Amino acid sequence: MPELPEVETVRSGLAPRLEGRALARVDILDPRLTRPHDLFEVAEKLEGDRVLAVERRGKYLLLRLESGLALVVHLRMTGGFHWNPVTHERAVLELDDGSRLAFRDVRRFGTWLVLEDADLDSYLARKNGPEPLGRRFTARWLGAQLARRRAPVKAVLLDQHVVAGLGNIYADEALWRARVNPLRPAISLDAEEVSRVTRAIRAALRMGIARQGSTLRDYATPDGASGSMQEEFRVYGRDGLPCPRCRTTITKTRVGGRGTWYCPRCQPLERL
Ligand code: ZN
Repeated sequence: MPELPEVETVRSGLAPRLEGRALARVDILDPRLTRPHDLFEVAEKLEGDRVLAVERRGKYLLLRLESGLALVVHLRMTGGFHWNPVTHERAVLELDDGSRLAFRDVRRFGTWLVLEDADLDSYLARKNGPEPLGRRFTARWLGAQLARRRAPVKAVLLDQHVVAGLGNIYADEALWRARVNPLRPAISLDAEEVSRVTRAIRAALRMGIARQGSTLRDYATPDGASGSMQEEFRVYGRDGLPCPRCRTTITKTRVGGRGTWYCPRCQPLERL
């Protein structure tokens, strides 16, 4: 699933070509995309409107429109935008400059929701905690969240109300950087560890953005270009390979049903 760096890469790819453009024609081809709202009603609301800005909040993409409406897109597992015709198109935007932007989604979990400006902030605030690269995300705040939970620290980090935009890949990468075992009860982390995890989350996400995200399976950037973050993974997907820090073999386990990778030596289950 695309995480913050992948969604940010989509955003920065779309913005220069979408901002300022009118949506001359909007075809929504799959009723699941706008459920429970009628696809024709959603298309009609969007058609003729103009895109003022393409923004991101957590894993959500936002198209802010001149009318005061916003199109809120969640890519989920396999959603993505493409400037060239592709298979599995679920919606097509035709712009006033003649260009055509398709939304492709093989597994059909992606969503399009149109909201009034007045409802947008409260909707996003209900779904997302602080932006990890913003000023509200601090060790103090993260520490307070972790201190309330006995669940494994990784499971708590995947809660979008705790860290907006963090997912399976960057949680594993951040915990490796912080030398914290993903199975440790969240409540057991001391202040120093919380501080390391806070910094590590930012560092892992910044590297992901710099590498234009990772390219995995059905996900691609709007121009068909590929991110290269997968070449930078320190632990994610690397079971059986040596830890880049200590050469110990990386182990795979499961946390909350998600594949989880860590170095048993750098990230011991007992506190160092
Ligand atoms: Zn190691």
